[in-house]
Amino acid sequence: MRGRQWRVVPHPGPIGGEQHTGGRSGALRAAIFGVNDGLVSNVSLIFGVAGAGVDNQVVILAGIAGLLAGAFSMGAGEYISVRVQREVFERLIHLEAHEIGSEPEAEREELAAIYVRKGLPDDLADRLATELMRDPAVALETHAREELGLDPQMGLGSPVAAASASFVTFASGALLPLLPFLFASGGAAILASAALSGAALFGVGAAMTYLTARGAFYSGARMLAIGAAAAAITYLVGKALDVGVGV
Ligand SMILES: [Zn+2]
Repeated sequence: MRGRQWRVVPHPGPIGGEQHTGGRSGALRAAIFGVNDGLVSNVSLIFGVAGAGVDNQVVILAGIAGLLAGAFSMGAGEYISVRVQREVFERLIHLEAHEIGSEPEAEREELAAIYVRKGLPDDLADRLATELMRDPAVALETHAREELGLDPQMGLGSPVAAASASFVTFASGALLPLLPFLFASGGAAILASAALSGAALFGVGAAMTYLTARGAFYSGARMLAIGAAAAAITYLVGKALDVGVGV
């Protein structure tokens, strides 16, 4: 069954709730959250280290380590998650195909029962199930959607592509708060980093309104407040733990 192609019919969504994570909005969503993760995590890390008043080189080292550690962690997590999702998906589809092949009548009744539960009259549910069971490909797709709550397009994503996208988006978010420290040091770098990160947090928050259709200003300000709070807390912790390294 591996690599089997389905004709996919647009569908309002399976019983098990919305499973639609694919498509362009899914990729946009993943990109926005990847950048956001990198940004918030490295802003907090860099401000914590900078708050301790260490040498500029130490801030840069911590920022690069934070960027790489986070990006690898996100990439690895994404790889495993997509792989496992795909394996589970393939196993369920395989079992379902086997059942449709070996017990078509039981599967037809099962499908009819699902439509009766959805409120269709018995005779209509029966006819619908019979028609849908005629073509094995349609039968399998219908069972996948109606019974298992799976979207046949789901699980076909590439784990490597998902992992790479995660890595790149996290790294680009994490790079922003680090940039000023590559060109300046001390208070000037901290201020520039705060301004750059603040603008980026606001931008990411506002970009999320493509998904939520809420006010861009409110969403941007909320993201900025969350990021600023995280950075302020780690900065104060850094200051409290200031052990006088470097300087
Ligand atoms: Zn079935």
